[in-house]
Amino acid sequence: MSTVQGRLRIAVQKSGRLAERSLDLVRDAGLRVVKGNNDLLYRVENYPIDLLRVRDDDIPTFVADGVCDLGIVGENVLEEGRNGGPMAEVVMPLGFGRCTLKIAAPPALDYAGPASLQGLRVATSYPRVLRRWLEAEGVQADIVTMRGAVEVAPRLKLAQAICDLVSTGATLEANGLAARDTVLDSQAVLIRAPTAPEPALAELLDSIVERMAGVVASQGAKYVMLNAPRSALDEIAAILPGAGAPTVMPLSGRDDAVAVHAVCQEAVFWETLERLKAAGASAILVLPIEKMM
Ligand code: ATP
Ligand code: MG
Repeated sequence: MSTVQGRLRIAVQKSGRLAERSLDLVRDAGLRVVKGNNDLLYRVENYPIDLLRVRDDDIPTFVADGVCDLGIVGENVLEEGRNGGPMAEVVMPLGFGRCTLKIAAPPALDYAGPASLQGLRVATSYPRVLRRWLEAEGVQADIVTMRGAVEVAPRLKLAQAICDLVSTGATLEANGLAARDTVLDSQAVLIRAPTAPEPALAELLDSIVERMAGVVASQGAKYVMLNAPRSALDEIAAILPGAGAPTVMPLSGRDDAVAVHAVCQEAVFWETLERLKAAGASAILVLPIEKMM
């Protein structure tokens, strides 16, 4: 049961790398968020929903305990929170907040795979994820847990290698470190409590999840319309990226040609249009999709 009678709660990062995109997702799902004078809690004015704005580290616990019904958090943080206790359920990946937890070390360290870490000290803010990875690789190493500035550990001789989040690699490079191995590929995920909300809110919860799935699915998706010779239909359908069966409609006064409409789930590049044209397509239009369900 949700702890607050009559209202759903969604946990989002208060400020940081996931904060803005999380709020965008909530808004795109049709929730009108109003910032009150309470910084911790934003209200949704058109549904009985509150946003709990917290540090991302707290989100998995709040959702696992049912204090919040939904949450948006990085897989890296979720995995680090895994401790054998009850867990939040992952509903779906959200396609943003991508980063990779990597092993990095100074170039002087000979690295030929995880076994090269045997007996070394590795600094990280993700001791549990690193511990599990080392165990799976059959490697014994000392883990030095640091809250931040992990990348300075080798220079300070606190550790010979580090395990840290990387997106562009610029921070590693600036500290004379090179990425050597991947421990975890991460992105933001939607998580939900393992317990159901109070019955009156169950339907609302499901519909919010479904809307968010629609928002995520429509990101990057395009609606493609074109005219095609009947004879080239199969070839053209095969070129359309990530499309299901297209809609085929007659063109008035033309027996040899049809109009084709399709939802493409993957990016539609200029090269795709050129191939469609070469296959006989004309009047090709590519439109953004605002909502999808
Ligand atoms: P908080 O104050 O909420 O604890 P934080 O400092 O722990 O914030 P941020 O730096 O805002 O966290 O990162 C939030 C999440 O964004 C990370 O846990 C990760 O999932 C994701 N992320 C994406 N790219 C990067 C990156 N280059 N470095 C770190 N995290 C990244
Ligand atoms: Mg944090």
